[in-house]
Amino acid sequence: GKVLVSGANGYIAMWTVKILLQQGYRVRGTVRSAEKGKFMSDYFAKLGYGEAFEFVIVQDIIKDGAFDEVVKDVDAIEHMASPVHFNPGDPQGEWYLCFYFSYLISLGIETLKPAIQGTVSMLKSAMKNGTKVKRIVITSSTAAIASLNLDLFTEPRIFSERDWNEASPKEVEELGSKASAVTVYRASKSLAERAAWDFYNEHKAQVQWDLTVINPPGVFGPPIHDVTSPKSLNLSLQVWYDMVASGSPKTKEALSQSPAWVDVRDTALAHVLALNNEAAGAERILTVSDFEGVCYWQKWIDTVNNLKPNPHPSHKFIFGYPEIAQEKVVLATLDKSKEERIFGIKFKTMEETAKDTLEDFARRGW
Ligand code: NDP
Repeated sequence: GKVLVSGANGYIAMWTVKILLQQGYRVRGTVRSAEKGKFMSDYFAKLGYGEAFEFVIVQDIIKDGAFDEVVKDVDAIEHMASPVHFNPGDPQGEWYLCFYFSYLISLGIETLKPAIQGTVSMLKSAMKNGTKVKRIVITSSTAAIASLNLDLFTEPRIFSERDWNEASPKEVEELGSKASAVTVYRASKSLAERAAWDFYNEHKAQVQWDLTVINPPGVFGPPIHDVTSPKSLNLSLQVWYDMVASGSPKTKEALSQSPAWVDVRDTALAHVLALNNEAAGAERILTVSDFEGVCYWQKWIDTVNNLKPNPHPSHKFIFGYPEIAQEKVVLATLDKSKEERIFGIKFKTMEETAKDTLEDFARRGW
């Protein structure tokens, strides 16, 4: 079959495309420039997939009909394009989906628009021209489930796919462009996923496809997308580099926090498994590594200091505050049972992810 992947040059998407090609799918990736497409074509041609991969430029995913042409003749869609940065951006925009979304977007918060409207625009194009499409997979986030990193909840809680992050959109509604950039990002993921389910529920009688949503927490692991320096890394890996690999000192408070996490290759695999799995239809699925999501940066620091042999010998890691392991109590966890029932991925351990990422960084001389 042939799969359309939007935002194909991104960190998670590049791995998704790679696994799709390895499993025998043909892939059409959308990117925002020819240069980004060429990086991908060259990379996959070198691996022997020159024939099976093509790219198409979709410059503006906000435009209605942006995906009308590219959804033709594909069997499935992985919608992965969405802004992942913590600067909310310039005011602007007139767009109407429903009152609530258009109100939030009218607050002038640029991250919301491509997240929400890009998602709806993909679903609209699939409804109009995606006559062969059987399934659409959307990359959402734990940000659409919980409003904070787990370690910041002060009461015991188990989050699952039944939970929705309603607090971040509300905060954005109240504070407008004064809302913090992290809150805006969380709101963008929650609202975009909500818009996808609303669209699907409204139109499911008219379409022959269904929807699966993948909700990963912080995604880490080796990059294969086009990055030339630690500063050009995608946001999540940039944070990992800074906290774990850079060697720059951190406060005890900073090392006591962190998002729950999952390896980028496992995240990508979930997106691929979702295409062909009956039970994944009409489900949102949390994909989380071990510890039910309980994590803090010191755990990564301890892990890299204990790796033998050291995967990055020229490098000095910080020692941090190992006592955090005794002191830290994380009360909120993630319920992984749906993932276990539907996919049963054997998630990479912290040791594996840390080792592979540091080896990659060492090869690049970072
Ligand atoms: P990247 O920044 O590496 O990839 C983002 C992709 O989206 C790129 O292809 C980017 O294109 C595209 N994109 C961003 N903004 C726009 C826009 N305004 N219009 C069109 N395309 C745009 O990030 P990730 O791979 O980490 O993220 C991929 C998806 O996974 C996102 O939906 C993200 O929210 C989600 N996610 C990520 C997590 C993480 O920790 N990394 C955790 C949970 C969810 P370009 O290169 O041209 O900017």
